[in-house]
Amino acid sequence: RYVVSIFHDVTDERRHRDELASFAGIVAHDLLNPLTTVQGWSETVVELLADAPEHPAVAATSDGVTRIRRAATRMRALIDDLLAYTLARDSALAATDVDLREVVSDIVVARIDQAYSGNRPAPRFDLGALDPVRGDRVLLRQLLDNLISNAIKYTAPGVTPEIRIASTLLGDGAVCVEITDNGIGIPAGHHDSIFDNFHRAHRSAPYSGTGLGLGICKRIVERHGGTLTVRDNRDGPGSTFAFTLPAAHAAARNPVGG
Ligand code: ADP
Repeated sequence: RYVVSIFHDVTDERRHRDELASFAGIVAHDLLNPLTTVQGWSETVVELLADAPEHPAVAATSDGVTRIRRAATRMRALIDDLLAYTLARDSALAATDVDLREVVSDIVVARIDQAYSGNRPAPRFDLGALDPVRGDRVLLRQLLDNLISNAIKYTAPGVTPEIRIASTLLGDGAVCVEITDNGIGIPAGHHDSIFDNFHRAHRSAPYSGTGLGLGICKRIVERHGGTLTVRDNRDGPGSTFAFTLPAAHAAARNPVGG
């Protein structure tokens, strides 16, 4: 009924889109609780089955339960991204000076730990100068986390991800941040469309995802008055994502490489 009333009441297209996005946010939020129950119990059952491999019920159920757990994990990723998208659209910007170096370092440490605990090659990071910017710390963290996690994820299996993150101070009071990876790159013809919601240029295993991450990133950058672009690396494999943000008010440049 709610969906029907949206289509009847809204005349202007922009409001129509806004209402659908808020509706998606409400639905995503309401799905979180029951999904947490499904996720929690499926994990418990998978563990219990692993402890009793001889029991006849195990052969009959373990494959199904593993599928339920995987489906719940995928659904959780989608809900998290939908919620992040509505946050990126709707929340009021709480702009302060943000030390990008601190934000990036936190993400880098977390991602290296995550690779170790998942038994994957730990990514290598090369952090250059990172100028302080003006923006919403929560949203900027989300932006960098999405881009860095893609830089790690879209690397061929067995290859150690090597990621350089650095910024330059542009003349017009803006900062340009670049994230360069040595990954599988963007297929020809997809450089613009990967920023559209749900567009995925790599769909086969092992590259899983929702196709919402870059839509969220673009929205965050645009709300700060900047732009987000991607280009192929010229002197090696992989891609470089670049975005601009306003420089911090009290802009004190970090020493290069320091
Ligand atoms: P997701 O990763 O959930 O699929 P995104 O919106 O973050 O969604 O990315 C959209 C698509 O862009 C991905 O499916 C992938 O094909 C491509 N992509 C994003 N980042 C990279 C990257 N660093 N290297 C290669 N391809 C990328």
